[in-house]
Amino acid sequence: MLTCDVAVVGIGGVGSAAVASLAKAGANVIGLDRFSPPHIHGSSHGQTRVIRMAYFEHPDYVPLLRQAYRGWSDLEQATRRQLYYPTGVLQIGPESGEVIAGTLHSAQEHQLAIQRFAYDEIASEFPGVVPPEDCIGILERDAGYLLVADCIAAYLDQARQHGATIKTDSPVQSWTRTGDTFELRTDTEVIQAKQLVVCGGAWATQLLADLNVPMTILRKHLYWYENEAPAYTSESQFPVFLLETPQGIYYGFPQLDSEGVKLARHDGGEPIPAADRQHQQEDAADRQAVEAFTAGHLPLLSQNLVRREACMYTVTPDHHFLVGTHPEHEGLHFAAGLSGHGFKFASALGEILCDLAITGQTSSPIEFLSPRRFS
Ligand SMILES: Cc1cc2nc3c(=O)[nH]c(=O)nc-3n(C[C@H](O)[C@H](O)[C@H](O)COP(=O)(O)OP(=O)(O)OC[C@H]3O[C@@H](n4cnc5c(N)ncnc54)[C@H](O)[C@@H]3O)c2cc1C
Repeated sequence: MLTCDVAVVGIGGVGSAAVASLAKAGANVIGLDRFSPPHIHGSSHGQTRVIRMAYFEHPDYVPLLRQAYRGWSDLEQATRRQLYYPTGVLQIGPESGEVIAGTLHSAQEHQLAIQRFAYDEIASEFPGVVPPEDCIGILERDAGYLLVADCIAAYLDQARQHGATIKTDSPVQSWTRTGDTFELRTDTEVIQAKQLVVCGGAWATQLLADLNVPMTILRKHLYWYENEAPAYTSESQFPVFLLETPQGIYYGFPQLDSEGVKLARHDGGEPIPAADRQHQQEDAADRQAVEAFTAGHLPLLSQNLVRREACMYTVTPDHHFLVGTHPEHEGLHFAAGLSGHGFKFASALGEILCDLAITGQTSSPIEFLSPRRFS
C-alpha cells in the first residue's frame, strides 16, 4: 500500500497545477489520472484557451484572475517556456448585452485598462471583422491565449522535479474515509492519503455527486479553418475575439500555424449523460452555426475545415465554479463545474487547493464559489 500526505485525483488542467503547488510546498503528493495528461479525452485540449481579466461573467473573479496571471508568469519563469501569448482580446457585442455590459462592469469595478471602439472604428481597426449592427468593441490588451497542453505538461514536469509521484492510466475506482485517512483504489493499487484533492473535470459529476449540485456535461466543438487572408494572421488586426450576436456567442484566435484559424461557439452544446461517453463525431447543426457566423462576420476566411475536435464543458446551474472543501468530508477539497471558462484560472486554483490541503484555509476570495450557494 502506498501512503502520502495528499492524493490528487485528476491531473488535467487544474489537477496538474494543484499537484505542482503541493510538491513545491513540500507535501508528499501523489497525482493520479485515468489517462496520460495532457490528453484529448477531457476538457483541456485543442491548442489554446482564452485568458482575460475584465471578466464579463462576474467581477468577483477578477482577484482570482490577478492571482492566475501571476501563477502563469511564475510557471513560465520556472520552466523557461512561453505559455501565455498577450495578443489582446477584442470583445464585440451590443452595449447592453451579456459580454459588453459584463466586461464594462468588471473593468469599472476593478479599474482595468480597456479601449473602447465605436461600431465604425471596429471595421477600420480590425478589417477582417464585420460586427453585427449596433455593436461596440472593447479591447483588453493584457489578455490573449494560453497553450493548453504545454501548460499541463509544464506543471507536471515541475511537480515531478519537486518530488511528486505521478500515476497515469490509473483511474481511481473508489475512495473511502476511515478515521482521518482516505483510502483510494485503482485497478492495481490502494493508496492512503491524509488529504484528498478532486479535480476530475467532467467526471466530477460522478466523483462529487454527493455535493448534490446538478452539473450538466456539454459536448462542444472546436474548428480550424484554412486561411490565406492576412487580416486573420496579424495579431494587431485580429486578436483573440469574443463576439456576441443574436444567434449566440462565438470566439476565435488569430492563426497560429498551418492549421488555420480556430473558431468555436461558446453558448449551446449537446448534453451528454456521462464523461466516458464522449464521442468525437461531428455535430452538423453546430458546424453550420459556426460557418454561418463566419460567413457573416469573418467574410475573408475560407470555409475549408482542416481540423475539428470535441471537448466537454461541465456546467453548474449558474455557470459559476464549485471550489472549496467538501461540507461533509473534512479533508476533501475540490475544483469542479468550471462551466466552460475555467482553464485560465488553473494556476490560481492549483495554489488554492494546495492552501486548503495543507492549512485547511486560503486567503484567496473563493467564498462566492462555494457549493453552499445552492443549498
Ligand atoms: C471547447 C472548450 C473551450 C474552452 N475554452 C476555454 C477558454 O477559452 N478559456 C478558459 O479559461 N476555459 C475554457 N474552457 C474550459 C476549460 O478548458 C476547462 O474548464 C478546464 O480545462 C477544465 O479543467 P479540469 O482540470 O477541471 O478538467 P480536465 O482537464 O478534463 O481534467 C480532469 C482530469 O480528471 C481525470 N479523471 C477523471 N476521473 C478520474 C478518476 N476517477 N481517476 C483518475 N483520474 C480521473 C481525467 O482523465 C482528466 O485528466 C474550454 C473548454 C472547452 C471544452
